[in-house]
Amino acid sequence: EAKHSGRDTFRFFDQDMSREARDRLKLEQALRSAIKGGGLSLHYQPKVRLETAGVYGAEALLRWTHPELGPLSPAVFIPLAEESGLIVEIGAWVLQEACNALVRWRASGQQLPRIAVNISVQQLEREDFPGWLERLLISHQLERDLLELEITETGLMQNEQRALRSLVRLQQKGFRIALDDFGTGYSSLSYLRKLPLSTLKIDRSFVMDMSADKVSLSIVRTIIQLAHNLDLDLVAEGVEDEIQAQLLLDMGCEQAQGFHYHRPMPEADFVALLTG
Ligand code: C2E
Ligand code: MG
Ligand code: MG
Ligand code: MG
Repeated sequence: EAKHSGRDTFRFFDQDMSREARDRLKLEQALRSAIKGGGLSLHYQPKVRLETAGVYGAEALLRWTHPELGPLSPAVFIPLAEESGLIVEIGAWVLQEACNALVRWRASGQQLPRIAVNISVQQLEREDFPGWLERLLISHQLERDLLELEITETGLMQNEQRALRSLVRLQQKGFRIALDDFGTGYSSLSYLRKLPLSTLKIDRSFVMDMSADKVSLSIVRTIIQLAHNLDLDLVAEGVEDEIQAQLLLDMGCEQAQGFHYHRPMPEADFVALLTG
């Protein structure tokens, strides 16, 4: 039994870890070349008004197709990108691509949807990030409020002061800031006082359990009231069925995103949806 044989156990874990480390390194190198040579793309998940199901915006979600392994989930490669620091370069690529997409859509003459982009705290920690982003929008001749920056409080807790300074500067420059996965961090309420927010996004886990679990339902109701009282926009994440949509609407939530409406889709499909 491995359990009783200390040496074998050690050897087993040692080999296992070095293989894991090798795999990670290979994956990291592949990700590095994807940033330069293609392989990354954005999908767009429409955000809708619950009342009409009309699309008013979208969240840009990063997709990576590995040359051998095929499409990988962000749940796999975003943590890798965070740990290796590649997330700063990737995040810049995502913001550039979102702006390029907005410019492409503007050419078709329609009203532009607002695009939400997920931002890592490592991007915020860069002193030059707010200025860089401002110049990016100027060079694309885009209004700053066409972008919404989604941040998570778990990310923020790592380096609060510097990230917070960046957020305040971004807000002063006219960017919108959303708190993603709201309710899942540890200090949600104290953060609400400090962060310059435009929007709260109710985490999918509460929405998912809401119709079966009274506590989740109460939490969702409380978050909706909180957002109203603080005059914040509110989006419910992960709406998967009509019952959830109706419950949210009844409780006064106005905006949502979830598989019940639309899954994340390639740009061409999103444009087709917008142009109807
Ligand atoms: P997130 O920002 O909370 O994004 C929402 C995630 O929930 C997306 O997963 C989306 O596909 C999924 N989702 C939306 N509606 C539903 C639903 O009704 N049911 C279920 N089961 N899932 C739903 P995805 O695309 O796999 O992204 C996962 C996470 O990866 C994101 O969570 C975000 O934290 C991160 N991520 C994605 N793109 C980027 C990026 O460009 N930069 C950074 N830093 N993180 C990103
Ligand atoms: Mg998000
Ligand atoms: Mg989220
Ligand atoms: Mg989430």
